[in-house]
Amino acid sequence: MPIQDLNIVFKISERCNLKCDYCYFFFAGDETWKKHPPLVSRQVIEDLGAFAARAARDFEIKIITLIFHGGEPLLMSKPRFADMCETLRGHESGFEFKFALQTNGVLVDDGWIDLFDRYKIGVGVSLDGPPVVNDLHRLDLKGRSSYDRTVAGLRRLQEAAAQGRISGTGLLSVINPFADGAKVYRHFVHDLGVTHLNFLTPDYNWDSVVSESVIRGVERFLLASLRAWLADKNPKIRIRVFSELLAAILNPHFMQSLHVYGGDYRNIISVSSNGDLGPEDTLRILDQRFTSMGLNVARNDLREMVETEAWHEQADAATIRPDGCKDCGWWKICKGGRPTNRYSKARGFSNPSIYCSGLKNMYAEIGAFLVRNGTPLSDIALRLAS
Ligand code: SF4
Repeated sequence: MPIQDLNIVFKISERCNLKCDYCYFFFAGDETWKKHPPLVSRQVIEDLGAFAARAARDFEIKIITLIFHGGEPLLMSKPRFADMCETLRGHESGFEFKFALQTNGVLVDDGWIDLFDRYKIGVGVSLDGPPVVNDLHRLDLKGRSSYDRTVAGLRRLQEAAAQGRISGTGLLSVINPFADGAKVYRHFVHDLGVTHLNFLTPDYNWDSVVSESVIRGVERFLLASLRAWLADKNPKIRIRVFSELLAAILNPHFMQSLHVYGGDYRNIISVSSNGDLGPEDTLRILDQRFTSMGLNVARNDLREMVETEAWHEQADAATIRPDGCKDCGWWKICKGGRPTNRYSKARGFSNPSIYCSGLKNMYAEIGAFLVRNGTPLSDIALRLAS
């Protein structure tokens, strides 16, 4: 398989200063983190740099995006973090690293912003909405609200971006099925001045014990937030899931690279703090075979990873159309939704998303918006035809 852009989710810290009860990493059944070092060692960083260089050479990759992830990545000390970035840069030869980082924002201070500036790191902050929504799940280790501290971190990042010290900050928000999507959208955009964000569906799959009201709630949230965004008609506000869908329906070029909810996740791999390799990070909650592949950056190459059974399974998930999606007119932009939301132990990825009806409503709403604004329905139908 040709790999044009490789994204590596690097678990530099496998501990956290918050205790969000829905966190797929700590509380969804996979407990491998308990056996891993809390912080990544210098040796693993060296090994990852060499692994990336071999992957770039073998697959002719020019840019590798490295997402510093956790747990909470800012639990690493600043000198150690700077040393890590220098070490990784030292491995760039014939390719470049693009650095990104996902944080809960609580520890962001001026010193961290200097480092983000020095190493050109794009920062994403996790927040789920106003306090009443955010604090349903995102509490600290003592059960206290994290909202004010996260927003303080976000504001520091926004100020630094306004001064041109760092690029803009994005927000990542897990959908709360019982929240009003329009209110959450307006809080982020109108109250907090966020311009780039994404809404993630909760990591449920077909084996999850989850009530119908949760599924319907997620669907309602998506539609309400989409309608609020469309009503704003502000091209500066980019909600990744909606913006990319809109672009993909309008331009087949973007359809190829669309994998915001569905599509091909094989260009995303994860590296644990002990150097173990895994597929896209959220798949770890589905089955042990996605966490213990038996490969490590110290010993193995990406070439070996693409030969594994778990990898081939993902390849099938990206290309084979589940029976439940056979007659669906949205397949080209949906591809069955996020792999995590498609999975069942009995059928693997051969299912539609558990949020299928909500996704269909979202696609239909975007299509209707485009038609209202002058795109002929026949053009849309032509682009979506398989
Ligand atoms: S909308 Fe539903 S049926 Fe259609 S491709 Fe997506 S998951 Fe499959």
